[in-house]
Amino acid sequence: MADIIKLLPDHVANQIAAGEVVQRPASVVKELMENAIDAGATSIKLIVKEGGKTLIQVVDDGMGMSATDARLSFERHATSKIESAEDLFNLHTKGFRGEALASIAAIAHVDMQTKPHTDEVGTQLEIQGSKIVSQEVCATHQGTSIAVKNLFFNIPARRNFLKSNQVELRHITDEFHRVALAHPSVAFSFYNNGSELFNLPTANFRQRIVNVFGSRTNQKLVPVQEETQVVKISGFICKPEFAKKSRGEQFFFANHRFIKSPYLHHAVVSAFEGLIRPETYPGYFLYLEVDPASIDINIHPTKTEVKFDDEHTLYAILRSTVKHSLGQFNVVPALDFEHDPNMETPYAYKDKQAQPPGVTVDAGFNPFLESSRKRQVTGIQTQSAKGWENMYVGLESQLGKDEDFSSVSFESDTITGSIFTGQEALETTATTFQLRRKYIVTTIKSGMVIVDQTRAHQRVLYEKFLKNITVKEAVSQQLLFPLSLSFSKTDITIIKEIKDSLTHTGFVFNEIGEEQVQVAGLPLLVPESEVGIVLDQLIADYQQRVQADSFSQTDMLSKTLCKTLSVKTGEVLDNASQLALVNDLFACKESEVSPFNKPIYITITENDIDKKFI
Ligand code: ADP
Ligand code: MG
Repeated sequence: MADIIKLLPDHVANQIAAGEVVQRPASVVKELMENAIDAGATSIKLIVKEGGKTLIQVVDDGMGMSATDARLSFERHATSKIESAEDLFNLHTKGFRGEALASIAAIAHVDMQTKPHTDEVGTQLEIQGSKIVSQEVCATHQGTSIAVKNLFFNIPARRNFLKSNQVELRHITDEFHRVALAHPSVAFSFYNNGSELFNLPTANFRQRIVNVFGSRTNQKLVPVQEETQVVKISGFICKPEFAKKSRGEQFFFANHRFIKSPYLHHAVVSAFEGLIRPETYPGYFLYLEVDPASIDINIHPTKTEVKFDDEHTLYAILRSTVKHSLGQFNVVPALDFEHDPNMETPYAYKDKQAQPPGVTVDAGFNPFLESSRKRQVTGIQTQSAKGWENMYVGLESQLGKDEDFSSVSFESDTITGSIFTGQEALETTATTFQLRRKYIVTTIKSGMVIVDQTRAHQRVLYEKFLKNITVKEAVSQQLLFPLSLSFSKTDITIIKEIKDSLTHTGFVFNEIGEEQVQVAGLPLLVPESEVGIVLDQLIADYQQRVQADSFSQTDMLSKTLCKTLSVKTGEVLDNASQLALVNDLFACKESEVSPFNKPIYITITENDIDKKFI
């Protein structure tokens, strides 16, 4: 038989290898930025266009390359960073495989300009799909600029596989954060489609974290410091009360390299045990310094997992260091999270000062001054009634108090499959009562119905918000004094992305700045005190859905809003509110299940009850 085995031509081999190194624009960003760091740059500029699909450019002021090195740098296994296999055990650089530039050049159009400070002129090099198109002498500043254009131009399947520009930009931003946080002494800037997203001056760790995540991060940080023979730990953890429902602000750096380690993550989380709710994650920015020989980062070219020699010891040290910091900085609250989560404090009351119960003896009480006493009592009642007004602002039409709200009620002809259709509905003289501050019990002709108050309210609010967003004519309440709220830059990007939908629900934004949002109007059902919580929750939910790649903005917004704003278990509802809620529920299009697919009510017929008495 004739010989059939052939060596693959270099450009094909490079393309195959490129698949390993470059999965998406963010991978290119990582490689180029790390090269700039390795070249000793003090200032690094990242420029991207259209989520990195058309342009990724990194400009540094590092050591630059000679003309020969510039050309060689695009060869596979061409590296200045190691010479022998032993060097692998004493790595002080990010790169060492000599694969990145060769891989990138195999699947994109690359333009490089570079000049070492010792040379008068620099080199310009143009490569397309591994082929050198031109090499010229050029005038340029010290350092290197590499522009990567039209990524995957020669692999359409890969190009089509890329996500939307927004999603790719988010991956790039994540990568940028990781490198920028690992190197606070290097200045970074980041431009997207011509506008500046980040401008990070040289700083210390704390300032860098704050510059990346926004000024309100500063108050969250608790320092962590420990030095042992095995590891030196420094950095910050976030106070337990800032633990988030979504993952995101969790960073480990080992020898200035971002790493992922589920095992060490567990060590930190376990130090927070009992301080945060089970479904939330603590934020942390932890820098580990270990002997380069005791760490193996060679597992995979793009993976961020590493292997430590003595993981168990590291785990124990990390856990106790974090615990120590939590204790030392007095951030361990005397709170018990074992209580029934259903009884949790409603959001609106979370940040309020505890009020002493209103049964204290009135020393100045004079039984002969009847009128003054009465006034006091009336005052209290009015206040509590006001609170409920807020909550039920949209329900008032049912109570016949305020016809203005009729615009947010629903057409009754769409009610389907309800046991309450026609005149049969609630008995005209229906009475309701609240059971264990959790259920509303009422009678129907055939027996009784028990309604879960939270789920019922979620359903009512959900359909209202959904309708408002869809018809795009939401009613909004104008604020007398616009609210100024701070967010991180990443959060701001998300707010900008969902701004249109937010506007349709009734939010009015005066201004969206770099770290500030000014809110001038709110949806009718959102109380002023909850705006921050509502927006935080929206951002967290939006992030999670984007990760899962399945979401509709309208649905997500409505779900978040109804979840955040609904009446919670443990809240007392007066009779009018109970009745209004039940009526509103059965005017909903889908009154049986909550927006999260849980049953809202059960019915017990007279027959069922009769059977119990046999
Ligand atoms: P590695 O980083 O693993 O060595 P790369 O393909 O990323 O491999 O880079 C190859 C070589 O090109 C590097 O070893 C370095 O000598 C040189 N190089 C790459 N980027 C730069 C840069 N921004 N400034 C100076 N030299 C660079
Ligand atoms: Mg490299």
